Amino acid sequence: MWTAHRSRLWSLLAALLVSLTNPLTVHGSDWQTCTEDIAYRLSAAAPQQGDVVLVELRGAATHSRVEGRWGEQPLYFWPAGNGRHHALVGVDLSQRPGTGQLLLTATGNDGSPQTCTVPLPVRSGDFPTERLRVAPRFVNPPPEMLPRIAEETQRLRALFAAVTPLRFWRGRFQPPIEGLPPAGNFGRRRVLNDQPRAPHTGEDFPAPAGTPVRAAQRGRVVLAEELYFAGNTVILDHGLGLYTLYAHLQSITTEPGAVVEAGAVIGTVGATGRVTGPHLHWAARLHDARVNPQHLLTLPVLEE
Ligand SMILES: [Zn+2]
Repeated sequence: MWTAHRSRLWSLLAALLVSLTNPLTVHGSDWQTCTEDIAYRLSAAAPQQGDVVLVELRGAATHSRVEGRWGEQPLYFWPAGNGRHHALVGVDLSQRPGTGQLLLTATGNDGSPQTCTVPLPVRSGDFPTERLRVAPRFVNPPPEMLPRIAEETQRLRALFAAVTPLRFWRGRFQPPIEGLPPAGNFGRRRVLNDQPRAPHTGEDFPAPAGTPVRAAQRGRVVLAEELYFAGNTVILDHGLGLYTLYAHLQSITTEPGAVVEAGAVIGTVGATGRVTGPHLHWAARLHDARVNPQHLLTLPVLEE
């Protein structure tokens, strides 16, 4: 009995140590029952607007199909070893705070689906308001530029809506710029030249022009060109609905169709497009949800 007591003490101490060294564990959920033979665990039990949540399933290996849904957003599970399945959920930065629901479905070999509903309370990101002065043509673009802007908006929308059924990434995500911190301005409500505009959908990294910009993860280049607002831009498709975007570049050193490794230089910091000075604008999309790219860096290692 004393031994059982002692081993429980050790496991409590170990759990405490893990929770102290890994901040995700503090907010993540323990294993919860989904269906009779499937359990789930979340990397964040109460995410903020703009967060990315890792969903882990245990016990679904004997099922022929595992699926999920977060509102309109489908979840794409991949086998993660040990009979587990993983998927990422993107909480859009404008997702209404309150309790949403994840729907998880595992279909057995006999074709019968088992479903469970997981409450996922979303907290406000408490994003502050930011007032900026930029060149007037970027607040009220000249009429002759409107067709170009409409075309680019439409093209980006279609691009982010496409889901490549492959996972290009392995392991941890890395920051796009070495050794320089981001401004922490994801989600800020923006007032440009006294006119309210859409919230800031990425993180800015102020850095000298010419600083190398690196791929945050392995991915396929799906866009590498100059856009009206974003200037010289590279977009990487990491598969399963996840994209990262690198904007305002001085130069682009990759091309559409190329598959780049994590850490590969894809361009340099510049001041092209709608900017107040040289910086990298780094953004991420997950199934169309505008998520904080910095949050990708905090995800547990996503190995097979
Ligand atoms: Zn930005």
